[in-house]
Amino acid sequence: MSKEASDVVRSPKELLKFRCTGCGNCCKEPLLPLTCADVIRIRESTGDDPMDFVRFVDEDAIDLDGEPEAFALLGQGKRVMILRHQAGGCRYLGEDLRCKIYDSRPLGCRIFPFDPAFDKQGGLRRLKLIQATDCKYELDGGNDPGELRTLHQRYEAATALYQQKIAAWNREQQRRKRQGKRPQSSRRFLSYLGALAKS
Ligand code: SF4
Ligand code: SF4
Repeated sequence: MSKEASDVVRSPKELLKFRCTGCGNCCKEPLLPLTCADVIRIRESTGDDPMDFVRFVDEDAIDLDGEPEAFALLGQGKRVMILRHQAGGCRYLGEDLRCKIYDSRPLGCRIFPFDPAFDKQGGLRRLKLIQATDCKYELDGGNDPGELRTLHQRYEAATALYQQKIAAWNREQQRRKRQGKRPQSSRRFLSYLGALAKS
């Protein structure tokens, strides 16, 4: 029987036995915030235009109340950059429930559903499962805490860098507003991030 993400409290040791069964639910429901590094990696590996695979959503569409630093000020308002969904799931989810861009998938997909915390020595201090969907996992696998720490560090570094860029962008947009100008478009934002292919 697969387990469902629930309020059951499990120890980090238990949760390190997490095994994804490939049910695909995490690629169907939750909206996935992207960083600029994710967008560039996907563009470079697929050749797809970020204007096609990225969407910008407002605070009503995504539960990021405690993370104002994730919102970029655009012409249409404050928006979070996510991977576009179509036909009931991520646009890169195949009919076989496999990810079509597995090697270049966003770091948020790689770390899901783990939400770890590490102590100063790098030891695993806490481990939770993000409950963003009905995750049909099993507890008969094995995950290496060292690999999880490395992935978490990559994820945190990419997020911090992207949020610094958002902060600089937002300061510029506020400056424009004080001059009576509108904030700039999502295309301009992607160009600012270096995410659009050079023409
Ligand atoms: S990029 Fe791949 S792993 Fe991430 S949500 Fe889409 S299909 Fe799933
Ligand atoms: S919801 Fe859980 S079990 Fe299903 S594909 Fe995602 S990580 Fe794997």
